[in-house]
Amino acid sequence: MSENNNLFEIAIVGSGAAGSMGALRAVLNNLDTVCFKGSPKTMKSARATWVGKVENMPVLFDKPKAIFSSAREVFGWIRKQELWKEKLFEVADAVESIEGERGNFVLKTSKGDLYKAKHVVICTGIMDVQPKIQGDFTNIFPFANEGHVEYCIRCDGHKTKGNPTAVIGHQEVAGWIASLLIERYDCPKMTVLTNGKPFEMAKNSALKERLACYNIEVIEEPILRLLGEPKGEGLTGIELEGGAVVECRIAFVSLGTIVHNGLAKSIGCQVDGRGYVVTNKQGETTVPGIFAGGDLRANTKKQIYTSWDVTVDAIDAIDGYVREERRNQRIKNCKADVKELSGALMG
Ligand SMILES: Cc1cc2nc3c(=O)[nH]c(=O)nc-3n(C[C@H](O)[C@H](O)[C@H](O)COP(=O)(O)OP(=O)(O)OC[C@H]3O[C@@H](n4cnc5c(N)ncnc54)[C@H](O)[C@@H]3O)c2cc1C
Repeated sequence: MSENNNLFEIAIVGSGAAGSMGALRAVLNNLDTVCFKGSPKTMKSARATWVGKVENMPVLFDKPKAIFSSAREVFGWIRKQELWKEKLFEVADAVESIEGERGNFVLKTSKGDLYKAKHVVICTGIMDVQPKIQGDFTNIFPFANEGHVEYCIRCDGHKTKGNPTAVIGHQEVAGWIASLLIERYDCPKMTVLTNGKPFEMAKNSALKERLACYNIEVIEEPILRLLGEPKGEGLTGIELEGGAVVECRIAFVSLGTIVHNGLAKSIGCQVDGRGYVVTNKQGETTVPGIFAGGDLRANTKKQIYTSWDVTVDAIDAIDGYVREERRNQRIKNCKADVKELSGALMG
């Protein structure tokens, strides 16, 4: 356990898409920055860990583990820059608690180390709920790791084109996703698998008509196992407990998300009905001096580019506060004769 004596201008919690971009912006804005990069435990439940190949963003196309590699690039680049490397202090640990108020927050890591910062940007992200197959949620991982099971329509929906597809989920939203994919990509076959749960569709839902007209079958039987070789031929189908096999080459999971809002909530930030952290336009939460970046922030698209953008907004807002403080100090200490100067300027 140790205490760092610096008072950083910004503390960034997380080093996925949002945290790494936040660290880069903060350093380039010449702000004294500490970035908490997380622990093996936080990484395991970060979306960043699950992103393989990215196909909706230039520059990231050919990067395996695209978010990890772009974050590694960011931190590696900063470390090599004579001009900037002193501006970033990296901590390979997770933050467990934040206390204090704007201008004087204290962040405690899981090892018990203490850091002080004037402002905090929390970028702890979200995680998708995994289906339990025969009671075990790890059964899906080998297929998810190879991109045969996906979670994000905007990121990977296009992979359903030409492929029989299944959506795993028991809420109405799973049916809406299935119908969207049919309308957009006209997949040859679409099935909704509720994995043993009753399908929750409102009585008069317009979805009913779509399911019928688009030939989308909803099956409530529990899933027994996924078929195929994750690293070879890929997903070939999903076997149900009764022995029937649902043909699919790709599956989407639609079971909702877990928002990693524990830190934000513990210091009093307001969250919305789904757990996302409520902020103003600049990303400042209801607690002055605490900002939310990336997927954690309410009312954003949950994408790499939006994570970057909203986090840059937060850093720029903090930059505004820091410049105001520096400005007031400089003007207070200023010896220039302002009256004479403005007279000269007026001619
Ligand atoms: C399977 C999949 C595929 C995707 N594909 C794409 C795609 O192709 N294109 C696209 O634009 N988007 C894609 N996304 C969405 C993208 O992953 C997210 O929008 C993005 O990762 C959000 O960035 P973030 O920094 O908010 O969260 P993450 O990138 O998940 O990062 C969260 C970070 O917070 C850290 N952390 C958590 N708690 C703590 C703590 N207490 N202390 C310190 N650190 C902590 C974690 O270790 C991690 O570093 C995909 C998502 C999934 C699940």
